[in-house]
Amino acid sequence: MNTIAPPGPEHDVTAAYALEPAYVRTLTDRVVSSTGESVPTTCPFNGQPLAMIPQSGEADVDEAYRRARRAQEAWAATSLDERTARMLALHDLILDRQDEIIDLICWESGKARKHAFDEPLHVALTARYYARSAHDHLDTERKLGVVPGLTRVEVNRVPKGVVGIISPWNYPFTMALCDGLPALMAGNSVVHKPDAQTMLSALLGVHLLEEAGFPRDLWQVVAGPGRELGGPMIERSDYICFTGSTATGRIIARQCAEQLIGCSLELGGKNPILVLRDAAVDRAAEGAVRAAFSNAGQLCVSMERMFVADQVYDRFVDRFVARTKAMNLRTGLEWGSDMGSLISQQQLDTVVAHVDDAVAKGATVLTGGRARPDIGPYYYEPTILEGVTPEMTCFGDETFGPVIALYRFHDESDAIARANAGEYGLNASIYSQDGKRARAIARQIKCGTVNINEAFGATFASVDSPMGGMRESGMGRRQGAEGIHRYTESQTVATQRLVRFAPMLGMSDRTYARVMTANLRLMNRLGRR
Ligand code: NAD
Repeated sequence: MNTIAPPGPEHDVTAAYALEPAYVRTLTDRVVSSTGESVPTTCPFNGQPLAMIPQSGEADVDEAYRRARRAQEAWAATSLDERTARMLALHDLILDRQDEIIDLICWESGKARKHAFDEPLHVALTARYYARSAHDHLDTERKLGVVPGLTRVEVNRVPKGVVGIISPWNYPFTMALCDGLPALMAGNSVVHKPDAQTMLSALLGVHLLEEAGFPRDLWQVVAGPGRELGGPMIERSDYICFTGSTATGRIIARQCAEQLIGCSLELGGKNPILVLRDAAVDRAAEGAVRAAFSNAGQLCVSMERMFVADQVYDRFVDRFVARTKAMNLRTGLEWGSDMGSLISQQQLDTVVAHVDDAVAKGATVLTGGRARPDIGPYYYEPTILEGVTPEMTCFGDETFGPVIALYRFHDESDAIARANAGEYGLNASIYSQDGKRARAIARQIKCGTVNINEAFGATFASVDSPMGGMRESGMGRRQGAEGIHRYTESQTVATQRLVRFAPMLGMSDRTYARVMTANLRLMNRLGRR
């Protein structure tokens, strides 16, 4: 078991952002790497190198799968109760070690501490949920037999084997772990390729798994460009769980189809928020700030389009703009920042391009609209736009930054149609004081999750329910029963007694057909399934 020394510099925003080399080595030792190559990662607070990450080649991918496959065989033989005990130990460990986890997330991603806190919180919720619901999801189930009393049917949940996980940089700790925990709970092992920019947060998660008592080889990590390692991973996996962009999701889906393996794809969004005429305006304005600017908008479920009823538009906009202007903008490890940095120059370039394009084509900036190199090299102000039209890039394309466009609406059916426009369908939010009406509108929204009087937390943190995208926002679901059953094969075992599925006692085929037909009619008349 490993205990990792906490990072060097304490929460001092003026200190140089540097990690203790020994700490980095303890983490990166878990990468399966024989190439002798390392690449640097960057700290978004100052744009300086943060850590050298050893790189994996195809031979390392092969080795990772060999180890994972061997570990899985032993793991599949453990009882659900043994797995549950480790999962609950992980829950406690994550809460105990949250400062270390949050520091590392901030260092690598540049996000505000309060947004980094969401990550250990979400992993702990997920660990507890799958630990305590394991028997509900995985126990062998009795099913109705075709001949009641004489056909005994059971359905087993068999682990797929080795699950490949490819995860993004935006929530590097929870996107690393939250999909893998149900895979382990169901008896699988994992080979994981985190995004190159945020390897350390993922590696800390892997160390914590081992400290919680999970066998060391059960979770393997490889590092390198997705386009190089993705194919070799898919060729060796029994299932793929991918979170990232829709463009990459399409490539993964094609490769999985070729291998005839399943995959879940959690992809992009252009998420709408609706503020209805009876919304509590202050509450909606508070929610809109979190909806649009959490993690500087680099959140798959964050909102980039806002439709506001005429009756409350002016009041709402005043409050939303005032709250946004009052946000405390800074980077660093301390609590108190309302929004952190973007992760990279590439993300900043996209945000600048979207806003500049919108402004050049006639959009109005109500607040924000500028990069802030005085705060950090990739920092961009939280930005509210009005007058965004279809010819502007940010009208339909995901910005994945702190930019939201406001649109006024007169009637609700028009707002629903506009919210449903485009190809995405991940997350939506509705603000209204009439819960029943809001729920009726939710049914008309083509998104996998809809939050009422909340931005995204109500659905995302309700881990007993499925979470994922419709249309080009994805396939399959994380969380809830679907989030664990995706990692299992269902196996039906039927034991037949006395009667056979063939003519008996000298009966002709013709008589058998008549008897069976009469039997089917009788069953239907009796209202049987
Ligand atoms: P991306 O698709 O470029 O990268 C995501 C991961 O895929 C990384 O680990 C990357 O190395 C890997 N990858 C890249 N090309 C690959 C290939 N050809 N084969 C295999 N793996 C490959 O995504 P990104 O732009 O870095 O991340 C942001 C996107 O992710 C946004 O669109 C966002 O909406 C989406 N996202 C979705 C969710 C969700 O739950 N739906 C969560 C987080 C992020």
